[in-house]
Amino acid sequence: MITGLPFRPSPLVLAAPSGTGKTTIAHALVARFHNFVFSVSATTRTPREGERHASDYDFVSRDEFEHMISEGELVEWAEVHGNLYGTPRSNLETAAERGEYAILDIDVQGARQIRGRVPEAVLIFVFPPSADHLWTRLTQRGTEKLDEVRRRLVAARAELEEAVHFDYIVVNDDLERAIARVRTIVEAESHKPGRALDFPGEVERIRSEIDRVVARDGVRDPAGG
Ligand code: 5GP
Repeated sequence: MITGLPFRPSPLVLAAPSGTGKTTIAHALVARFHNFVFSVSATTRTPREGERHASDYDFVSRDEFEHMISEGELVEWAEVHGNLYGTPRSNLETAAERGEYAILDIDVQGARQIRGRVPEAVLIFVFPPSADHLWTRLTQRGTEKLDEVRRRLVAARAELEEAVHFDYIVVNDDLERAIARVRTIVEAESHKPGRALDFPGEVERIRSEIDRVVARDGVRDPAGG
């Protein structure tokens, strides 16, 4: 029987300019696959209509956020569009204990910090197919004023330059295709020797099986001569 090796799921970072649709991808992955979990960030931003505390964000005051920083509770944090956002360290720890992929929907500054602090994390830059696409998503969302939409588009110009430093780029031209691309990346990542739970042990296991087979059958000419 051929079996896959047991492996260690690693945190998955999805970063992208605002309006690219990475949050939709993140939530779709969590809804469809049992071993993906959304990393709920802390933020000082006020909730938008329909957003729920503890499921979209932990909405906290600036004081509470600063307390989290000083207590070392955040593995990364950044100021984005005038608000503070950060990833609680415990999100990564809990996911690792449970053997789950923590999905971090964060900005490029946060991704850079994760790169330095969580070397096993897989960094995916979600790429917009066009500027029109960004504009449409940001305005249709109806949650930001036009000035804010413009600000986010200008920020996107700079953020796109960061894409080259990521492990992978996924163009979100179509939600289903984007999800499939992320799944393919996760699948490929899980085949890296360093991600196997006990690769040296697996090598040893096959080597002793080889020893047993050789001792049992002797070294025969495979051509049967
Ligand atoms: P929004 O206010 O639209 O929900 O998010 C604004 C930006 O902040 C998005 O790019 C989002 O991915 C990012 N963001 C959300 N949570 C975090 C976080 O924990 N850390 C960082 N660095 N960025 C975050």
